[in-house]
Amino acid sequence: NQAPFKIAFKVMDKLHQNGFEAYIVGGAVRDYLLQRPVHDVDITTSARPDQVQALFPKTIPVGIEHGTVIVREENTNFEVTTFRSESGYSDYRHPEQVHFETSITEDLKRRDFTMNAIALSIDEEIIDPYNGQIDLKENRLMTVGDPKIRFKEDPLRMLRGLRFISQLGLEMPKELENTCQSLGHLLKNISIERIYQEFTKLLSGEDLQKAFHILLSSHIYEYLPYLENKSIECQQFSHLPLKLLNCDEERWCTLIIQLKVKDITAFCNAWKMSKRKKNWLIRHTGIYERQKNLKWTKESLYLSGLSAALSVERLKKVFQKSSEQTDDDIKALWKSCPIHNRKDLHVNGNDLSTWLNRKPGPWIDKLLTEIEKEVLYERLLNDHEEIRNWVMSFV
Ligand code: ATP
Ligand code: MG
Repeated sequence: NQAPFKIAFKVMDKLHQNGFEAYIVGGAVRDYLLQRPVHDVDITTSARPDQVQALFPKTIPVGIEHGTVIVREENTNFEVTTFRSESGYSDYRHPEQVHFETSITEDLKRRDFTMNAIALSIDEEIIDPYNGQIDLKENRLMTVGDPKIRFKEDPLRMLRGLRFISQLGLEMPKELENTCQSLGHLLKNISIERIYQEFTKLLSGEDLQKAFHILLSSHIYEYLPYLENKSIECQQFSHLPLKLLNCDEERWCTLIIQLKVKDITAFCNAWKMSKRKKNWLIRHTGIYERQKNLKWTKESLYLSGLSAALSVERLKKVFQKSSEQTDDDIKALWKSCPIHNRKDLHVNGNDLSTWLNRKPGPWIDKLLTEIEKEVLYERLLNDHEEIRNWVMSFV
């Protein structure tokens, strides 16, 4: 667990030796203090981006104008960002101006919540000018400075706050909740990509119910695509046993099912999801709708594939659709299938076209489907010659 910290310290050591300050900041310090697993480690430094690039052999300039360079060290990426402050968020996206700063305390001041504004030095000294550790101990979410000012500056912080509540089970003080209520509408100015990222993390939290409660009471949900007008469905969703699910995609599927979304493509487009995500959700909600009240057969299992079937079983459990088949039953059924996808079949479309002396067309897919079914139920052996005889017996 401490491995990424060790490598980060090496990066910081190099910066130090060249006369720069460097600290670990943000989520890594927070999660370390909470004794939670640390994902990525961010570093903040007095070195300018060009100076960082000059010091390390492997760097990626991801946001030079904002002071960020990725340093790759021992197969681990570190976002190294120059001490900075920000001002003028008039487009609600990027600060109009980024000022490089000379001190760590100035850098910590621009950060959203007190628990995210703690730095760890290379001597393992904690720098915590906004008492983030006290707030963490008392389990409350606090902004750095006046929440009205900070949420107006960047309204996404309201949603970030809710996702931290969902992930960490913190309490939101009344003042923050009231501020969310009065400023929630500013979220309409925020790009959907940023909202999507935070909301996906919110969906994964163990305390989602708490976060959804505030999402509803503050009316923030009205600014999320397809959630507006759906307060009852949102509430029902928040009571589902989501911990049974395995991944972000399954959680989004569950939301789509609970909201009774008809046009899933339009839903995914409204959330600006990637093509890959969109296809996943369309496919799995489709299989869920077909299978929710049915037992798996060799045929339905073959068509969806094992991993999709197991995902759909988890969705069924979340919606309390009784299932007579356990995961082990389904895996055994899968194992008993003589083929698992079309590539396993010992004939292909070309063979059919040659044997029957017919131009390729939709008939090929139809006939292959027939053959698959015969082979699956072992009425026909998966053998080139056997299949040929079977096909030719119809002409
Ligand atoms: P996670 O563990 O999910 O990555 P995180 O706290 O590291 O959580 P990031 O989005 O990676 O969250 O941001 C890194 C740090 O940058 C935050 O801890 C916070 O200090 C600062 N930060 C990020 N977004 C904002 C924002 N919108 N306003 C102010 N500070 C921000
Ligand atoms: Mg992070």
